[in-house]
Amino acid sequence: MLLDRRSFAVGSAALLSGCATVGPRTLAGCTPLPRVDVDPSRVIRTVAGLRPYRRSGFVVRAEALGDKRLVHNYGHGGAGITLSWGTSKLATELGLPGHSGPVAVLGSGVVGLSTARLVQEAGFPVTIYAAALPPDTTSNIAGGQFHPFALYREDSITPAWKAQFLRALEYSWRRFQIMVGDDYGIRWLPTYDEGDTPDLYLPDYPPINQVLSPPQFPFALAHAVRYDTMYAETGRYLRQMIRDVEVAGGKIEVRRFATPADIATLPERLVFNCTGLGSRELFGDMDLHPARGQLAILLPQPEIRYAYMGSAGYMFPRADGIVLGGTFELDEWDTTPDPKMIAGILASHKRFYDSFRCTA
Ligand SMILES: Cc1cc2nc3c(=O)[nH]c(=O)nc-3n(C[C@H](O)[C@H](O)[C@H](O)COP(=O)(O)OP(=O)(O)OC[C@H]3O[C@@H](n4cnc5c(N)ncnc54)[C@H](O)[C@@H]3O)c2cc1C
Repeated sequence: MLLDRRSFAVGSAALLSGCATVGPRTLAGCTPLPRVDVDPSRVIRTVAGLRPYRRSGFVVRAEALGDKRLVHNYGHGGAGITLSWGTSKLATELGLPGHSGPVAVLGSGVVGLSTARLVQEAGFPVTIYAAALPPDTTSNIAGGQFHPFALYREDSITPAWKAQFLRALEYSWRRFQIMVGDDYGIRWLPTYDEGDTPDLYLPDYPPINQVLSPPQFPFALAHAVRYDTMYAETGRYLRQMIRDVEVAGGKIEVRRFATPADIATLPERLVFNCTGLGSRELFGDMDLHPARGQLAILLPQPEIRYAYMGSAGYMFPRADGIVLGGTFELDEWDTTPDPKMIAGILASHKRFYDSFRCTA
């Protein structure tokens, strides 16, 4: 199933395939954009990853584990890059006050690395323990858009969780802004999203956020929302985050924990659990489900300086390739890309770019 991110964020799984289209191809009244060249011969890799999805949203809470304090920070669905700094900030606010001595972080995806950095910034020594390191994490697969997507269902969350979400989003939003540049592989892009109502999450997010009509874009659509946001080239971003942890004296140990009793053997008295989907088995959280997403990555096209999301799926242009995706398959555990679904992603994007009314 192909999903557009906006309809999912408000709890609907509906496709936008019924979007109204307008007239034949014409150069009049059309603001051009370059087309993505979608062709199977341009595919450089395909991947499938499992989003750690909970209908009721991520978990940030503290509990006792024997004589240790354990702070959970997992279940970010399709928004783990987006919310990484923010939920890690909430988690460290729960865990660090009153603590002295070294700290353990379980997990070396984007959430574990952000938590480790905040622990270091607060002056504590940190060791990351993780079964797998980048590039072998779900975080490496992420498209890298800063936007809350496929993260919760509106009918399953509480006001208290919503308040956590907005605080996390706000902290992340500010934190990513000061990381823009080549070292972390983060840049701003205008994003065109099929739809006619802009979502506003924070007073200043997303910026621009306006409904456009046909003279303002080349798509064969009646309207589209444009907002601006940041995009991370996730491989580069995570590499740099690991360097940051190490430069600040952090240690990284490859280790898998089978049960909470394994965690109890660690020397650290404060432990942050950032194991993503691993928390299902490790802590028996059966509300946590895999939501598989598949991507086809095309040869880079540096002239593409906009992102798109809608009924065709999504397109995020990155230095390491054009990322085409947008599928969401709940409770699918297989991380092998399915050739049929990949062909479907390519076909829907090809139709979309072929339908441009004018091109740059
Ligand atoms: C196709 C796709 C596209 C996406 N696009 C975006 C996007 O554009 N924007 C966005 O914000 N998000 C996106 N996401 C979501 C994002 O990838 C996840 O929310 C995020 O990676 C979760 O990060 P994490 O650190 O919690 O988990 P992970 O990256 O999975 O890291 C978990 C860590 O915990 C370790 N671990 C797990 N279990 C154990 C154990 N028992 N013992 C020891 N270690 C353990 C793992 O080895 C790993 O190091 C996308 C996801 C997919 C699949």
